[in-house]
Amino acid sequence: MIFSGKVQADDISPETDQCQCGSTKAPLKSFFVSVLAQTASANFGAISFQTSSRSSSANPSMSLQVIKYPHPTLRHRSKPIRRVDQELKSLAAEMLDLMYAHEGVGLAANQVDLPLRIFVCNPTGKRDEGEELVLINPLIQRPKGNEAAQEGCLSLPGMYGQVKRPKTVRLSAYDLQGNAIERTVDGFLARVIQHENDHLDGVLFFDRMTEEALREFDGQLAEFTADYQSQQKSGGIPSDDELIGRLAQWEQRYA
Ligand SMILES: [Zn+2]
Repeated sequence: MIFSGKVQADDISPETDQCQCGSTKAPLKSFFVSVLAQTASANFGAISFQTSSRSSSANPSMSLQVIKYPHPTLRHRSKPIRRVDQELKSLAAEMLDLMYAHEGVGLAANQVDLPLRIFVCNPTGKRDEGEELVLINPLIQRPKGNEAAQEGCLSLPGMYGQVKRPKTVRLSAYDLQGNAIERTVDGFLARVIQHENDHLDGVLFFDRMTEEALREFDGQLAEFTADYQSQQKSGGIPSDDELIGRLAQWEQRYA
């Protein structure tokens, strides 16, 4: 998600001061720790967190890129992560680098072609400011209130539209160290988290716009599609079948 420059300043106040947040942490004691979430949900189960610096074998270094609509991974409903190893931690660090490089405030794994329930965010969009979060298997509950504000997305560059979302939500997740996060978020952070969490379900921000408002973007969406198809035709992007096959490999490893 991007809320950069004027769009953010004009349409959404960060409201981070108003966030009445708290987190509970469960420190890890053993080499491999299985954590069972307190929250009963299909999103949560046992996750093994590798705490050593030993890297896993078969660890091809890869460079992540932000994929654009209508790449099929953006419509993939990701499965919960069952294993956190050094490579996944490196991928999360790379996602943060990409997010800051693109002046975004959030980036979900789907947006870098990974079918895993993890996203990174920082409502300030600046590396050394604000709160940087890496959230694994997030769960959003107890929505309260309603607020419309303008959103954008790194996978749909240049497209901005009004999206109505709950103002306050309860967030449950894990961080990369296996600490459980349980907190109520509101304001801009709540919006960022809901936008990114949507990505993990294959939902894009324009899916939440009214049909009437969306009609305005028909042309822009058609351009994204034409661009994607021409890149696929020229071999710049693999076929959809190949892309979907890759997702299965990632799922086998982490989900
Ligand atoms: Zn987005």
